Amino acid sequence: MLNVKTGSISPEVLGTDKKLGPVFHDEEWLEYRRKWDAYPQEGIVGKVPLQIDLFAVDVCNLKCPMCPRQEFIPGKGYMSFSLVKKVIDEATEHGLCAFNFAGLGEPTLCPDVLKVIRYAKEKGVVDVNMHTNGTRLGPEFNRQLIESGLDRLIISLDSANKEVYEKIRVGASFERVYAGVEDLIRQRNERVSKKPHIKANFIEMDEKDPTEKDRFIAHWSDKVNRIAVLRYLDCQGEERLYHRNNYQQDRSFCCPELWRRLVILSDGTAVLCPRDMKKRHVLGNVQEQSVTDIWTGEKMQRIRDVHRSGKFRELDFCRDCPDSYDSKRSLK
Ligand code: SF4
Ligand code: SF4
Repeated sequence: MLNVKTGSISPEVLGTDKKLGPVFHDEEWLEYRRKWDAYPQEGIVGKVPLQIDLFAVDVCNLKCPMCPRQEFIPGKGYMSFSLVKKVIDEATEHGLCAFNFAGLGEPTLCPDVLKVIRYAKEKGVVDVNMHTNGTRLGPEFNRQLIESGLDRLIISLDSANKEVYEKIRVGASFERVYAGVEDLIRQRNERVSKKPHIKANFIEMDEKDPTEKDRFIAHWSDKVNRIAVLRYLDCQGEERLYHRNNYQQDRSFCCPELWRRLVILSDGTAVLCPRDMKKRHVLGNVQEQSVTDIWTGEKMQRIRDVHRSGKFRELDFCRDCPDSYDSKRSLK
């Protein structure tokens, strides 16, 4: 039987997006999350994706050893605001639900970051979210971030131990980042605001002390809204793939993201998924094509068909995807 997973592949140890509708008292949020599950399960392809992941920022201020940036950098800078606007305008016309401002870089370094978030909110996107390494968080930026209307912020915090943290997030100061996150939580709570909803990410690594995860959870569980434990993906060496060594693959997997999300890089190239920063599966370019043409186009549909027929392993790029490794079936 085909297994269209709609849950998160990463064990979530605190909170879930699914419960955010009632938290935000928002019917639109509930409807968006309903579609998030229903579209992949029922094979529904909307005129535009439910979420656009705009990998608009190529620059970063850190040098994390596991980052694909150590091997290659997808582009040279930032997507222009006019192209960001074009994407948001087109997609919101057809009901875009979620917008993730991201990059293989640090999105808060983009000079337009607050302008982009405000624009997406003005255009009615229900879930505007961003991933950050947290280095830019500080009293003034935090104030502006809360006022921008950002719905969710996902922060890579990795360890509650200074030494371990700074070994992973090379170039970041543990004290500064942790203080920045705590200031953001304080400012938000003082405003009695539920947004941005804050998620702290921890990465599982073979090299980490097994107690590291519990200490991280203990540190953040009373402070943030969600904690997720992500699998370590070493994009540089195939043989060091954490998921392959620690989990079993589900051969009946069918990737739900093909009915949910479209990834667009800083030069406008639309690629298959967030794992395709090297542009192995180019679907089109939003500089010349509409989001709808790309999302409903032949290339994307062919890949959906392969997945739906239960043959995802026939696609080179998807064959060993970490998402197909079942978190419930640990090898340990
Ligand atoms: S902060 Fe993110 S983008 Fe920057 S080097 Fe680290 S993993 Fe890569
Ligand atoms: S590599 Fe394939 S299976 Fe994995 S997330 Fe991308 S599209 Fe889905």
